[in-house]
Amino acid sequence: MVRRRSPRNRILRCPTCGSTRIVLSAGMILGQVYHCLDCDYLGSLVLEVDVADDGSPLD
Ligand SMILES: [Zn+2]
Repeated sequence: MVRRRSPRNRILRCPTCGSTRIVLSAGMILGQVYHCLDCDYLGSLVLEVDVADDGSPLD
């Protein structure tokens, strides 16, 4: 089955707990560092996922 894809918003998802409550910690020397508000993950690697028009993540 082919799922039609149209341009949608993208959100960031935590690679550890799957939360989408990711914030960008700016101003770090190492560059972009993301912070998960749910599990306190801190790192430069996050998942980028498409979201539907209603904002729910698409898997
Ligand atoms: Zn997390």
